Amino acid sequence: IVQLYVPLNWFGTYYRSIQKNFIDMENMFDLLKEEKEIIDAPGAGPLVVRRGAVEFSNVSFSYVPERLVLKNITFTVPSGKSVALVGPSGSGKSTIIRLLFRFYDVENGGIVIDGQNIKTITQESLRRAIGVVPQDTVLFNNTIKYNIKYGRMTATDADVIESARGADIHERILTFPDQYETQVGERGLRLSGGEKQRVAIARTLLKAPAIILLDEATSALDTQTERNIQESLNRMCANRTTVIVAHRLSTIIHVDEILVLKDGEIVERGKHEHLIGQEGVYANMWKQQLENRDNSSAEGSLEQSV
Ligand code: ATP
Repeated sequence: IVQLYVPLNWFGTYYRSIQKNFIDMENMFDLLKEEKEIIDAPGAGPLVVRRGAVEFSNVSFSYVPERLVLKNITFTVPSGKSVALVGPSGSGKSTIIRLLFRFYDVENGGIVIDGQNIKTITQESLRRAIGVVPQDTVLFNNTIKYNIKYGRMTATDADVIESARGADIHERILTFPDQYETQVGERGLRLSGGEKQRVAIARTLLKAPAIILLDEATSALDTQTERNIQESLNRMCANRTTVIVAHRLSTIIHVDEILVLKDGEIVERGKHEHLIGQEGVYANMWKQQLENRDNSSAEGSLEQSV
């Protein structure tokens, strides 16, 4: 793993953000093609996606030898269901996501998708089956159409429009100077945080993966925008196996299972109501978020936000 650092130096700023978040892993792997450290097993075949069930069994992992970052992580996400990872900063949430994307190999235990250990299948097929919606979507200096199409390069214009509609950004794109041909990114039209998230949603809809990894944005958008985006996200995740890294607990009240991580271990698990009843780590986090909401009165009433 340590070896990975050296060739990554040229990455500069981009790399530094990767360290922290799992940002745009799909883009990153394109950039990393030359430097891949994880290699396909000899004779590895493609992942055969049946229904997208995900299973972690007794997974332990460390970035550096002396420090275990994940300890005995075991959970299942049945196909079409959703699991949320919550816990303090540094508890290992993003690491779980990175391992599922096989950014690193696990030392102990296994990660299995539809009965196949991800070590035994090609990385290309693994990443084709997984859609990633990062906190911060990196836009290419290219047209908005290209940026959406990145989800599936063979898509037709009609497909692109359909997914833009699904992400609720089609109407907005029509107001851009050259509509779908408008240049975006650093050297073109700058999109807002909410718009970039919608591009990520549109990309993912176009990709139509069986599994979705969602890194919830920490930066707050205004309440209305956030609610609208949440609706698009919910639509996107419906009937897809979803793993969410959650920062705002109000968005995960309805997920099938919440895993509460602390220092690399699952310390509590269950549905929202169950965890509230336990009066443990999760219940405390919940209380704290309610208090924060209460204190920031500009955010609207509690009822609305929770
Ligand atoms: P946050 O909510 O702040 O994103 P997290 O729960 O996602 O945190 P992780 O990013 O999974 O936490 O990090 C878990 C632990 O692993 C932390 O102690 C972190 O410092 C360490 N870590 C993360 N990435 C690396 C890396 N590339 N090399 C070494 N240690 C790392």
